[in-house]
Amino acid sequence: MTAVATLAASIRELRKDYVLSGETVHALRGVSFDVPEGDYISIMGPSGSGKSTLLNLLGCLDRPTSGSFLLGGEDVAKMNDDQLSETRAKRIGFVFQSYNLLPALTVVENIEMPLYYGGRLDGETRDRCVELAKLVGLGNRLDHRPSQLSGGQQQRVAIARSLVNDPRFMLADEPTGNLDSVMTAEILDLLATLNAEGRTIILVTHENEVAERTSRTIVLRDGHILTDERR
Ligand code: ADP
Repeated sequence: MTAVATLAASIRELRKDYVLSGETVHALRGVSFDVPEGDYISIMGPSGSGKSTLLNLLGCLDRPTSGSFLLGGEDVAKMNDDQLSETRAKRIGFVFQSYNLLPALTVVENIEMPLYYGGRLDGETRDRCVELAKLVGLGNRLDHRPSQLSGGQQQRVAIARSLVNDPRFMLADEPTGNLDSVMTAEILDLLATLNAEGRTIILVTHENEVAERTSRTIVLRDGHILTDERR
């Protein structure tokens, strides 16, 4: 009997062109790779190599020009706008370099935000968001506002928020880009824990120390995969 690893995602010949003032930019020129469930991938490469474009496609924020992207077996390239936003909201957790927290809201309220947009807030969801705050080590900061937190703590709130719909697939765009080395290590520990629980994580980074904590690094160059290596 052969064991076949379940794929979280499968990317085939993915291309993305942007047309800007009549000129076509080939941001991705045919990218293919498989993502087994529970993988932890870093994407690296120089500025302009296509990292953000790839992350946007993986996050269902944009559609490819051609090629296929199967997420849990479903072809994202064929989804309509409603299906795309539903997939995004329910199945993908996003973490950004700049945290994107709302300054007027408390820690718990920020974590609740995705549920607020979905109109699904009640006492039970509040309890769950408190649990998420505790999970990321902010159980004693529930009523603090972002300005009263360190950068590392703000990123923990953002990670807790990304977990509110319990996604199996997490994407992070330079999650430690604004943090010093101590806070970077804390966030990497947290991501490693989430990965060890079975969540698939793909992050973009410029930092070798971050990439070294992932299981696999894909390096992009001019819209192509230059290398794809496991540690
Ligand atoms: P990276 O994240 O590695 O810096 P990007 O994916 O942002 O690379 O960009 C890849 C290429 O696509 C670059 O040449 C960039 O200028 C171009 N590009 C990215 N987004 C757009 C856009 N919305 N419109 C036109 N060109 C774009």
